[in-house]
Amino acid sequence: MSERIHLSSPDVTQLEEDALVRALRSGWVAPLGPEVDAFEAELAAYTGRSFAVALSSGSAALHLGLLQLGAGPDTVVLTSTMTFAATANAVTYTGATPVFVDSDESGNLDPQLLRDALADQVRRGAKIAAIVPVDLIGKVADHAAIRDLARRYDVPVFVDAAESLGARRDGKPAGQDGIAAVVSFNGNKIMTTSGGGALLCDDPDMAARTRYLATQARQPVVHYEHVDVGYNYRMSNLLAAVGRAQLQRLPAMLERRRGWRRRYLELFAGVPGVTPFGGEDGRDAPAGGDHDNFWLTSVLVAPDVAGFSAEDLRAHLAAADIEARPLWKPMHLQPVFAGCPSYTNGASERFFRTGLSLPSGSVLTDEQFDRITGAICDFVKVSA
Ligand SMILES: *Cc1c(COP(=O)(O)O)cnc(C)c1O
Repeated sequence: MSERIHLSSPDVTQLEEDALVRALRSGWVAPLGPEVDAFEAELAAYTGRSFAVALSSGSAALHLGLLQLGAGPDTVVLTSTMTFAATANAVTYTGATPVFVDSDESGNLDPQLLRDALADQVRRGAKIAAIVPVDLIGKVADHAAIRDLARRYDVPVFVDAAESLGARRDGKPAGQDGIAAVVSFNGNKIMTTSGGGALLCDDPDMAARTRYLATQARQPVVHYEHVDVGYNYRMSNLLAAVGRAQLQRLPAMLERRRGWRRRYLELFAGVPGVTPFGGEDGRDAPAGGDHDNFWLTSVLVAPDVAGFSAEDLRAHLAAADIEARPLWKPMHLQPVFAGCPSYTNGASERFFRTGLSLPSGSVLTDEQFDRITGAICDFVKVSA
């Protein structure tokens, strides 16, 4: 039996191992410590932000950011319906109601529909705490268009860049747009600390308040004094050491994933009915010139043209011990969010029905990738 190939496995090396041991031996075995400080500085520099606050997860970063923007009961937060549930979950932690907005052809928030949603929510008298656009599957959203709309309605933009670290758009690194942004270092993301995240911002008060809320909201006095409800959301010093090693290797890891994107594009160029999800970024754009970090390569399958469905291809790959996964099921279709308002245009439902993400990890070997393309070619030949 061949070894199972996963969608996006952690890519850790001797460098991460050495960093972890170094941190462990330093005696700083706690949340906070010199590795956290250094990781935050390096992350801020990488994303072009003044501050990064390392936290226990991307979800924690979303939660603390939303709280500071005033999200709470009797407010709404406009966000992408096409996202991982963590985005919408964090909105509900604050007591706010998520309002879901559908995608354009890139999969990201449709600015046209966002305009309609803003106008309609204002007409209904809703108090809009924030717009939370998601950079879907590594592709940076049209933040210039979103910013213009947000300004018109005087609503802050808080970017969920959990999937897009390392991408750039219009020369700007992912995570630099909005009043603040969130990145994630979960195990399957473009880089990992096994679990973790960060809030990125430029306002020193927001950075300080995020740190304060993330460490149980302790007042600066010797006894434990609290005037706010706090959280235990800080990143461990050990994991920050792993993060520093990952950040150092990130450019090489991005390049590896981009290589897989190129090969998938070549492979599917000759397959009618199969198109790259989110466009053809990665074919021949210069390094750093894409909107994408190539976290996952996904395709859309038109069954009437291809002669097979995305699910047929997924099942074939699964039988060959290769993991592939449908795109995110839109939040407006999730039972848990059934009562929330949504503005839809059919795009996200179509992406969910016809999309498939393929193994894209930087840890894949050339031999493993050949196994994947071989399995896809075999399937396409007999199915077309
Ligand atoms: C992974 C992810 C998150 C949450 O990050 P965690 O670190 O797993 O809490 C939030 N939003 C999106 C879009 C994600 O993909």
